[in-house]
Amino acid sequence: MLCLQRKQVETAQKHTREELEVLVQQRTAELSQSNEQLRHEVTQRKLALAELEQTRRQQLELRDQFLSHVSHELRLPLTAIYQFVTILLDELAGDLSGEQREYLEIVLRNANQLRDMIEDLLETTRVQTGKLSIEAQSTSVAELVGEIVSSLRTLAGAKGVALSADVSAHLPPAYADPQRIRQILRNLVENGIKFTPDHGTITIRAELSDEEHRAIRIAVADTGCGISPDECEKIFERLYQGTSTIEGSRKGLGLGLSICRELVSRHGGRIWVESQLGRGSTFFFTLPIFSSVNQLTPLAVAEQPQEGGRA
Ligand code: ADP
Repeated sequence: MLCLQRKQVETAQKHTREELEVLVQQRTAELSQSNEQLRHEVTQRKLALAELEQTRRQQLELRDQFLSHVSHELRLPLTAIYQFVTILLDELAGDLSGEQREYLEIVLRNANQLRDMIEDLLETTRVQTGKLSIEAQSTSVAELVGEIVSSLRTLAGAKGVALSADVSAHLPPAYADPQRIRQILRNLVENGIKFTPDHGTITIRAELSDEEHRAIRIAVADTGCGISPDECEKIFERLYQGTSTIEGSRKGLGLGLSICRELVSRHGGRIWVESQLGRGSTFFFTLPIFSSVNQLTPLAVAEQPQEGGRA
């Protein structure tokens, strides 16, 4: 009797085991099938992502080509306007009355603003397509600052703003592209003029950096409307336009400072701003000091500050 019972239990156990095994096999098959499905889905998603990325790149490339093409095309008619207005202003086509001269000067000023915006657009597409070139050499910062002060003093004066320079004596030459440094200084000073009210001042200072090794620090300080702390970093972003306004000043394209940041960083320097709303702003940038070692090593591109607008 006992023997029969044990046999029955064993048969039942064997049965259960077999059922379990079948179940496990079924489950394993199901799992490996869903695993396969998952793998397939992941592959599909990766492919879709790669396609998306490629489309995005193509769109960016198209946009850059379009911008570059439009900017070039805009430049031609603008050059004609500039040339003919200059001919009229020089009175090569006949005498001008005071009123005619005043109107032509307005045309010329506006044509110049348009030219600057087109140049910014072109420069931005050069940055985007990696075509921005820097030809660094031994460069006198004092000379460049002097040039900028003489060329922008009249523009500043017309707005009732005094422009001056304060360059340390015996400042060593910088390792920089003079054309590009002129471009940065012009941009910063023109912004200063734009955002500083009547009776304000703009000072360009240049001295050895006390924080960075073998670097020159250039500062463009204005007594203008200032920039709010949360905007001090954002204003260097492409297409960002701040809330700072001065009556009668024209909004630009929000490209100037992003171009300055790219140019400074391509020199291995850094750019930042310190500002107080209602009191003024000081834009700083650094450049490496020239040495014979510079010529043997390519310019190091510096990392830009991430917070607080400070390098
Ligand atoms: P935009 O050509 O539009 O002026 P920028 O890139 O040169 O573009 O400047 C971005 C923003 O930074 C400006 O819209 C302005 O709000 C702010 N900004 C730049 N320079 C000054 C300054 N000296 N004082 C106050 N705000 C400034």
